[in-house]
Amino acid sequence: MTTEWHDVLDKLLALMRLDLKIERLERDLERAPADLKQREAAIAAIDDRGGKVSERVKLLKAQIMLRENERNTHLKKIEKLKAQASEVRSNKEFVAFRSEISNTQSEVDRLDGEMLKIMEVVELAEAKTLEYDAERAREVELADKAQAEIDDKLADVRAMREGLLKDRPALREGIPTEALQAYERAHEARGRGMAALEGAYCTGCGELQTRNDVYLVQNRARLVPCRACNRILFQS
Ligand SMILES: [Zn+2]
Repeated sequence: MTTEWHDVLDKLLALMRLDLKIERLERDLERAPADLKQREAAIAAIDDRGGKVSERVKLLKAQIMLRENERNTHLKKIEKLKAQASEVRSNKEFVAFRSEISNTQSEVDRLDGEMLKIMEVVELAEAKTLEYDAERAREVELADKAQAEIDDKLADVRAMREGLLKDRPALREGIPTEALQAYERAHEARGRGMAALEGAYCTGCGELQTRNDVYLVQNRARLVPCRACNRILFQS
């Protein structure tokens, strides 16, 4: 009886090692899309920054347009004043017209100055937009490359996983039903079918085991599931 459990335990440990490998591959499969998400987030961040700059350019252009309109109104006014000035008779009137023309012209000059300054800002912003476009193109290229690499890697990982799963039935063979069911139940429920004993504690859940159970596990005497998590205990 003692030797029999000894053999069964070795078979169970082999099955557990295989399941650990499969689990690791499955974790790789889950992690891969997360890597890609980071790249997508980088692209979204660039889009966000680019969007803000475009928005600002739009506002600035609207401000230029407002000044442009105002400027045209002033220019028309100047033309009209000049026509009127040519028809005045007294010098006093003429001086008054000239002064108004000159004031309106100052307004036009002020608007010209402001528009020039705004246009400089627009040019800088548009240059920034081009930089973002280039940066985005680079990120997209990297993301595509990462996607291709991940696809390749995932295909490999999947193939490896399939291979390991094919090995599983052979490893299950020769394990008595009771032990196999105990293993599969814990494996299903807890992700691991077995847990090592450390001192008198289950390393799977931390539960303290009875002295008798610890003795049985240490001597590989028979199947001992953890009192709390039901993983099959073994002495590492
Ligand atoms: Zn446990």
